[in-house]
Amino acid sequence: MQQDRLNRLTAAVQQAGLAGLALMPAANLKYLTGLTFHQGKRLTLVLVPADGSAPCFIIPALELTQAQANATLPMRYFPWHDADGPGEALRQAVQDGFGGTPKGAIGVEYTALRVMELRALEQAAPGLATVDGTPLLASLRMVKDDAEQAAMAEAARMVEVALERVINQMQVGMTERDVSAIITREIMATGATGESFDNIVASGPNSANPHHNNTDRPLQAGDLVILDCGAAYGGYYSDITRTVAMGEPGPEARRIYELVQAANEAGRAAVRPGATGHEVDRAARSVITNGGFGPYFVHRTGHGLGIETHELPDMVAGNHQPLAVGTTFTIEPGIYVPGMGGVRIEDDMVVTEEGGRSFTSFRRELLVLPG
Ligand code: ZN
Ligand code: ZN
Repeated sequence: MQQDRLNRLTAAVQQAGLAGLALMPAANLKYLTGLTFHQGKRLTLVLVPADGSAPCFIIPALELTQAQANATLPMRYFPWHDADGPGEALRQAVQDGFGGTPKGAIGVEYTALRVMELRALEQAAPGLATVDGTPLLASLRMVKDDAEQAAMAEAARMVEVALERVINQMQVGMTERDVSAIITREIMATGATGESFDNIVASGPNSANPHHNNTDRPLQAGDLVILDCGAAYGGYYSDITRTVAMGEPGPEARRIYELVQAANEAGRAAVRPGATGHEVDRAARSVITNGGFGPYFVHRTGHGLGIETHELPDMVAGNHQPLAVGTTFTIEPGIYVPGMGGVRIEDDMVVTEEGGRSFTSFRRELLVLPG
């Protein structure tokens, strides 16, 4: 499978007219080699030549055994010791992989590569030209195979088990941080390897902020509470949001809840092979706009999901790329009324031949907990 990924990657690199790629120890490297690293200060870089030959791995010597044992792809290793620094290992790797300075530009990850790696590359290959390889890498990862989809389905199942248990424990008087700690505990109790991201518990007026940081505010009767969390499993992530009410929330809150629920449903129904992120966004957004709350839906309808919690494709106006079968992403419309509160309902989707399938199926009707 990993060899297949290398073949697809090098074909795309050749088509883009690049001499190769340089990958940082992050999501793309994990996708290609199966290896995960804690990003440190020691230079760690994989050079992928466009000719499809084995990638060249410049690696701190202390990581070598671990990498060789766990890599799912044959690679050429260029270990370096702290006493020597990475310069010579990098020079050898560039020589081996490209026969000297690459003929033409290599793709680097603009959002991951640091000045440290860039300067070292420029020293090892004087006159080196670089371009942003991130879009090329992202497009390769958008379509998930069966094993990837199975991991995502399991990550979704885990977070839903956890969410059910969290909601059963929520009470007026608990703080957002209390609920956050329960979310973490219940997600880990399912056997998940971690949380997808720092969970969000946004209560009352705080729920009007889509990217709220959890506080010590106690939940109060009449609050809407947005719960946004995810589980990691097998290297893949889930990402779900449900909004609950602590006691009867009032007619305006119910009105915006119903609009968001209808928008979520319309967005999911718009998913099919060949539809675009633009169309999915419009399907969800038009429900909210027609309901009079358009200006309060302040973000895109969804984002790609997989090895990272935010990857391509975006469900957003202007994205006209057709969705292929196997593409995975979220649908998460929301309405945020400053001073009053907000509602978001988020599901994880995959494009199938028949249309969109949701990995997440947690009930979407407004849950009114004892106030
Ligand atoms: Zn989310
Ligand atoms: Zn999300």
